[in-house]
Amino acid sequence: MRDFPTRVALPVLGPCGGGPDGDQPKEKCGVFAGWGIAQPAHLAYLALFALQHRGQESAGIAVTDGQGVHRHTGMGLVSRAFSEEDLVGLEAVAGGSPLGVVAHNRYSTTGASRPENAQPFVGHFREGQVAIAHNGNLVNASALRDRLEQEGRVFYSTTDTEVLLSLVAEASHEGADDPLAAALAALRGAYSLVILHHDRVEVARDPHGWRPLVIGKMPSGGYVAASETVALDVIGADFVREVEPGEIVTLCNEGMLSRRFAAAATPMAHCVFEHVYFASPASVVFGSTVQSVRERLGERLARESPADADMVIPMPDSGRSAATGFAREARMRYSEGIIPNRYVGRTFIKPTGAERHAAVRLKLNIISEIVTGQRIVIVDDSIVRGTTTRAKMDQVRAAGAKEIHLRISCPPIRHPCYFGVDFPDRENLVAHERSVEEIRKLLGVDSLAYLSLEGLLEEVGRGPVGSEHYCTACYSGKYPIEPDPLFHKDVMSKNC
Ligand code: 5GP
Ligand code: MG
Repeated sequence: MRDFPTRVALPVLGPCGGGPDGDQPKEKCGVFAGWGIAQPAHLAYLALFALQHRGQESAGIAVTDGQGVHRHTGMGLVSRAFSEEDLVGLEAVAGGSPLGVVAHNRYSTTGASRPENAQPFVGHFREGQVAIAHNGNLVNASALRDRLEQEGRVFYSTTDTEVLLSLVAEASHEGADDPLAAALAALRGAYSLVILHHDRVEVARDPHGWRPLVIGKMPSGGYVAASETVALDVIGADFVREVEPGEIVTLCNEGMLSRRFAAAATPMAHCVFEHVYFASPASVVFGSTVQSVRERLGERLARESPADADMVIPMPDSGRSAATGFAREARMRYSEGIIPNRYVGRTFIKPTGAERHAAVRLKLNIISEIVTGQRIVIVDDSIVRGTTTRAKMDQVRAAGAKEIHLRISCPPIRHPCYFGVDFPDRENLVAHERSVEEIRKLLGVDSLAYLSLEGLLEEVGRGPVGSEHYCTACYSGKYPIEPDPLFHKDVMSKNC
């Protein structure tokens, strides 16, 4: 979800960011939904825990009692955002059996951490209240919003989610048979959406299938939807299938109903970075188990760029799966010489370079006894800005490593992402206009190699989804769809 600069000073109804100070949160979030399930708020809470890696900034759950929507949101990790009383309060609606639920974990790397930014967003249709949660980024919301405003519509918040609500209201007013389908057909970009109505839940996925979204069934009856299968596992739901790109699935008292608002794009554009970094290794994403894919990427990397060294050390936690594959393929000793402190938040999201450095030191301890005098291969999943990697390499060197051979299980990230991952403006990407040799020098390592794009695509393409169905824009600069000019303007205004 992306926010707009505020244009009208009106009370805010739903979550909103990107206020007058021009923040523009870009989000890659986790969503969950359920209908006809026992204790929906508690199940949503567990599901959000399982999806915590998709967003740590805020969390929210909304339930319906068959009429209105009741919502609780809070800042930070799920464990902090909800108290037992909050859950009991949500569970108490509708005489102790709420009908349906939607929930959301928010990840935002550039926007301010504000309570108003938390989702689900609550809005009003003619038929009543709805709660929407969204994972992705729309690339034409500015243009849609401009048109709606010119037609006299007033916006209460700055979110692109409200644009969607407004489009649905407009379609409904104009007598469309299927207002949601009509609204979705006008959107461009990445979205995995869950929408709670008083009598059903609707979940939808953009025609390119950028972000994952799956359906599960509870053994006791009722259906759920979640960003990743790992959420189904923790609540004991059986995996049914993915939501198809271009499909709306309704979860209601009749079970599960399907309709299309668009044909699936050909080719599709599944985000390859879900496999590289973002999704849980325990999930099945786009038909492949993430852990297995990452191990294959590590094996491939070992074949493409071997290193003459004494041992492989994973960069925890994100580099561990690829490091396992690398060591196996290279028949090298594998040792955990870098120990993470699990209680420190993700360093990537700290706003200034200096703060990131301090957070990196707090986050990792290097075991001198393991690394001193050794030639080590360090395997990590990706380098974005290079700031934390540089600090980590300094730390490993200071702990006594003789040689550091850094291996990265994806290609250099040279282009921004407009579809939900916070890969910043070109200038802030360390690989932008730098050769691998220049990056090596900057990071202070003895050798540096990235996985090739062909290698990455071939390995992800071994799953049921062919490699042509992946979006690799951050590596290749080939965008499946171009953001409209207004989107560029919004993004660029942040940099000036
Ligand atoms: P950098 O050196 O670019 O500052 O940080 C690289 C590290 O950031 C890698 O270990 C990688 O796992 C992690 N990373 C890559 N993409 C993301 C992201 O979108 N969010 C967060 N929190 N970390 C990321
Ligand atoms: Mg990492």
